Parts: sequence; structure tokens; C-alpha cells
Amino acid sequence: MIVRDPQAIRGDWSTRPRDALPDGPARLAALVGAEAGEPMRHGKRLGWPFPPGGLLIHLGMSGAWVPGEEPPHARVGLRFGDAVWWFRDPRRFGALIPCPAARLADRLAAGLGPDALLAALPGPALAARFRTRAAIKVALMDQGRLAGLGNIHAAEALFRARIHPAIPANALSDDQWEALSRAIVDQLRDAIDAQQDGELVYLTEGGPNPFAVYGREGEPCPRCGTPIARIALGGRSTFYCPRCQPAP
Ligand SMILES: [Zn+2]
Repeated sequence: MIVRDPQAIRGDWSTRPRDALPDGPARLAALVGAEAGEPMRHGKRLGWPFPPGGLLIHLGMSGAWVPGEEPPHARVGLRFGDAVWWFRDPRRFGALIPCPAARLADRLAAGLGPDALLAALPGPALAARFRTRAAIKVALMDQGRLAGLGNIHAAEALFRARIHPAIPANALSDDQWEALSRAIVDQLRDAIDAQQDGELVYLTEGGPNPFAVYGREGEPCPRCGTPIARIALGGRSTFYCPRCQPAP
């Protein structure tokens, strides 16, 4: 194990380096070894068993595991035989949390709703988790209701489902919940495919914008050509097509 930044090692789910675990490197060394099990995921959190130890991971905004030569902004390196996997994190919001393997699953899901993809809900069950007057875009990002959608994927899923982002969640119709149920799964599947194809570096390293509406204010809607609009909801920018996603 190689620790370049002890503050990447945290005691709990925190995006702040100042919440570093005081004896982080020693705790990490005690719980993470050379024999890794199958990684798990719940929402934006990852669990990596190293029985009997383990590691909880939040990638933050810019974290990634990369094999090979030490990259810039490496925080921690794990050795597997001759190979090293580096936790690279330029913005330092990412967290590595040492955790016994037996507790990984519980801590992974603590405080979160069902995973939006691994436990995808049909329309009626999705509606039941969103009995709130909050704008649907804001509610979709509430990880306690549904885990896995952030600012971008919530906006993109609403575009796919043709739902205006400011509609109160409890005002959606049954047909809209069905459309949203399908759109969430399609959006996350496509995003994972794009990530594996190396197309999602837009946010971390620049390059072409791979999204339909996110970051495209004033550009033509890919479906109807109407200029994409931007509004603030819950303090975050959200993007939508005023024609495909009509106001209620
Ligand atoms: Zn449109």
C-alpha cells in the first residue's frame, strides 16, 4: 500500500479532507490486503471486500481507480502482485473508508433509497417513493428516496421522459411515472456504456459534451430543434427543452 494523501482516508461518508481518519493509513493497511473480492455498488457508493477487511469508496466528483504508472493527483495506491491500482482524485472530494468485510453491505446502503439501476422500480413503486411537492428534478437527486441520480442524470432522464423538471413530484401522472421509470434505467445504462467507452471525460478532462440537454443552454434540442433552456432548481442548474418538456 502506498499513501500519498492521508486525508483521502476518512472515517465516514464525507467529502471533506478535514474529516480524515486520524490513524487512516494504519487502519487502511490493517483492513485492505492483496486479495480482493468482487466489488459492490449502491447508488454513488462502492464497496470493495478484502476479506476479512474491506474498503468503502465514494468517488466524489473526480475520483477514479487507474492501473499502472502513478498518475497525477494519486492519493492512494494498492498493490496486487506486481501491479498497482491508484486512486486518482484531482478535486479531493473522494473518500476511502476502511471497513470490515462483514459490515460493507450495511454501510454501503445506510441512509439511501433503493439503487436506481440495480433495484429499478416500476412506475407505481417509483411514485410511492416520491410523495412530495418538491420539484421532480430536486426530488430525484434526494439519495434517501432513490440512490444513484445526480444533477446531470436527473436532468437527462427527465428529458428522455418528456417531463418538465419543475413539476411537483406528487403531480406526475401514472403515464409519466412509467415513462420516468424506463428513462432512469435507460439513462444510467447508457451512461455506464459511455463511461466504459471513455466518452464521459467531458466533466473531468474536457472534450465534447456527450449529454442531450445538460450544459446546452441555447443549443437546439436534439429531438425538436427548440433552444434548450436553463433554470435553477434547488440551487443547481437544470437544463430542459421547453417544447418536449412542457410546463404544467
Ligand atoms: Zn425538444
